[in-house]
Amino acid sequence: MKQVELDIPREAADFLREAIAEAGGNEVYFLGKVRWDEAQVVATLDEVEVFARGNAVSVPAILAGAESWDLALHNHPGGDLQPSQADLAVASELGNRRVGFVIIDNKAERSYLVVKPFVRYEHQPVDVEEVRDILGPGGVLSKHLDGFESRVGQVELAVEVARSLNENRVVAAEAGTGIGKSFGYLVPIILWATRNRQRVIVSTGTINLQEQLVSKDLPFLAEILPVDFEFSLIKGRANYACRRRLKEAPEQFELVPEDTEDQDLLRDLIEWSKITSDGSLADLSWKPPPQVWEKVLSSTDKSLKVNCEFYQECFYYQARRRASRCQVVVANHHLFFADLAVRRQTGDWQLDLILPGYSRVVFDEAQHLEDVASEHLGARFSRLGIGQRLGRMRSRRKDRGTLVLLGRKLRQNGDPITADSIGKGYASQLRDIAESVDDQFGDLEEMLRGGWLAAEEPAAGRQEASRRTLRYQGDPDSWELWNSIRDCLLGIRGELENVCRLNDKARATVENSVVHDDVQKSILLELESFGNRMADTLGAFSRFNDFKDDSQVRWLDYREGRGGDAGASLGFSVAPISVAAELRNALFDVLDTVVLTSATLSVAGRPDFLGERLGFLDLPADRFSFKRFESPFDFKRQALMVVPTDLPAPNRQGYEERLPGVLLDLLKASGGRAFVLFTSYSLLGRMHKRLEKPLVELGCHPMAQGQAQRSELLKRFSTSDNGVLFGTDSFWEGVDVRGEALEHVIITRLPFRVPTEPLQEARLEELSSRGVNAFSNYTIPQAVLRFKQGFGRLVRSTTDRGVISVLDSRILTKRYGKIFLQSLPEVDLFASSAAAVVERVEEFFSPADEVSEPRNNE
Ligand code: SF4
Repeated sequence: MKQVELDIPREAADFLREAIAEAGGNEVYFLGKVRWDEAQVVATLDEVEVFARGNAVSVPAILAGAESWDLALHNHPGGDLQPSQADLAVASELGNRRVGFVIIDNKAERSYLVVKPFVRYEHQPVDVEEVRDILGPGGVLSKHLDGFESRVGQVELAVEVARSLNENRVVAAEAGTGIGKSFGYLVPIILWATRNRQRVIVSTGTINLQEQLVSKDLPFLAEILPVDFEFSLIKGRANYACRRRLKEAPEQFELVPEDTEDQDLLRDLIEWSKITSDGSLADLSWKPPPQVWEKVLSSTDKSLKVNCEFYQECFYYQARRRASRCQVVVANHHLFFADLAVRRQTGDWQLDLILPGYSRVVFDEAQHLEDVASEHLGARFSRLGIGQRLGRMRSRRKDRGTLVLLGRKLRQNGDPITADSIGKGYASQLRDIAESVDDQFGDLEEMLRGGWLAAEEPAAGRQEASRRTLRYQGDPDSWELWNSIRDCLLGIRGELENVCRLNDKARATVENSVVHDDVQKSILLELESFGNRMADTLGAFSRFNDFKDDSQVRWLDYREGRGGDAGASLGFSVAPISVAAELRNALFDVLDTVVLTSATLSVAGRPDFLGERLGFLDLPADRFSFKRFESPFDFKRQALMVVPTDLPAPNRQGYEERLPGVLLDLLKASGGRAFVLFTSYSLLGRMHKRLEKPLVELGCHPMAQGQAQRSELLKRFSTSDNGVLFGTDSFWEGVDVRGEALEHVIITRLPFRVPTEPLQEARLEELSSRGVNAFSNYTIPQAVLRFKQGFGRLVRSTTDRGVISVLDSRILTKRYGKIFLQSLPEVDLFASSAAAVVERVEEFFSPADEVSEPRNNE
């Protein structure tokens, strides 16, 4: 990162001095414009005006008028230029608006740059006609990509993205299946980024899409587009090995000679690190066990950064340096929001943090943003997590752990006194605390098992047999239980505070140690890293225990272990009920361009649901647009939707009894080659068990989610002649099986999310408390988006064809059913008795009904 200097020329300094004198030497706010030198290192104050008099607390109005300026200047009459808390708050808000902030003394002789001014570029707009030419008929893509056919939707999507870059706008772009949306946004962002020497972040919801972008689409575009650009994939830091820790690993072989198995694996990792191309897990042909990888992974806490002897060739920093040179940086939503959480504190969007600085982003698979943002803006701790963290420092059962190791290291390096203090004194105190923490968690679990968990109907519902959640709802009936929970947590929290105090003391002891500087540094780093993790955990405790903050939802979850209560896990979570305001402040009001795209953004043709949940809907008209780009597929010709009308609705008696028979008949009619999509694992399990044998007898290959890794199941399904895949969750979306392997998608029920899930429940309540109909405005739209995803699994190319069977008659009988149907592309619907539906499906798959001529090539 460049060091920026602020130059205040004499004339400007005189002006500032005089204005401050006129205000009686009190606090004044100025707004200024700067001129940059060519290297963009020195910003010279070119123009300055008095904006307001008063201190940071009394002039929040400064924020309103600052956007068109480069810099806010503020004097500290006492001459101490350190920013106060109020200054930092103003500086952060100004940073959000891309305005710098500087504190000066009353003579304007000294200055302290809190937020450096932002460089304003004269942007080179993307030529919309060039975009049309590249993607249009006879364009570069059609010349170089076999079977590529220009599609109107793709070209129009690309034009819309180009305009959003040129005009600094937020765009929600729903791109129907088969449009080729990745080329639709990649082409304009590559042109814009290369012409403007800038960077655009592309954030995806799934690894599949990430891989497609970096291993297929971007390398292809790099070859054929008329511009030179670089791209890179950002992975989480823990994916990279740390060269320093790899170098230090052999020391452990002597210190803990008994750990032979792990040591062999560590030796393998050391050898691999000499030949790996990027030092990341993806470049490793085997998967190291977590306790082994944990010893050598790169982490912020344990990094010596620029002081490290390996800084130049560090795997992680090399990847970061590569990314900051690139015009297109691909990340996933989780990394994006982890970065955003840090960025919001600094107020600087140009800094290189987890991601390199940026001002424009494309979110693909944007329908996941609310859930991912909630997770990253929330906090969580668990018995298992805390136990593992303490146990890694000092095992409760064996004389093992980091502290024991550090003690041995200190002794080996000639400091037996500090060695005893760390390896024995601190270690045994930590073991005692870990025991006490575990006992207290045990008492808490015991109490829950005796009360809430023993209740026949769990208070917060039972999502799956092994997992239950209990939400804090603040009503008097639950106070007694929650007061007891809180008392237990306060006891545990007290013990963790003791850990932090002991750790601080240990650090002070090591700081006075006589061992060599390098040894001391690496031991201090271990202790500091542990202290930071403990502080984070305490922060999560505080957020969980702040029951007065009703903008957050808090819940505990209990999952039975394989052996029932033994090995159970107990966790505590807190998350914001709505992320809209946070996203509006940190994304839509700050970034120049945000593109949100997916095949499922709208409900009945409108973006209101996601717009409200994510905070972009009430952006000014000149800043926001919503566009839909229709799928090029002819669903009327390629697909048929059937609904059996005499099957009881899923929430009525008799549904589950009838379901296996109807499923079997439908699957027989299509000869398998089907996805059967469920909304719960339990029903999936029961149906799979009932139908596995009859399906095999029919010559089908039934398989169920959970029997193998998702990718393995998909591979088996795609290569099997008549596979039947029973899936839930991840099989509703992001799955691309083309051709005859998948010609039938059965949706067993409309995908309403479980209303007892704490976050879901809290969101519904929050809407109701505002007089909004939560079912119409939240539950239905959310289910519609999911339903559209499920529907989208069927037709993946212009030659694909098939049947969607919807086994939930509510799509016809309920008023809301229309919304589901209106949200789909135009498709023929056949609704009749199950017997007639099966007949119609047989007919669809009979040779006479086959699509005679495919129109396009995919
Ligand atoms: S710079 Fe940090 S992550 Fe890289 S090798 Fe050094 S200590 Fe490890």
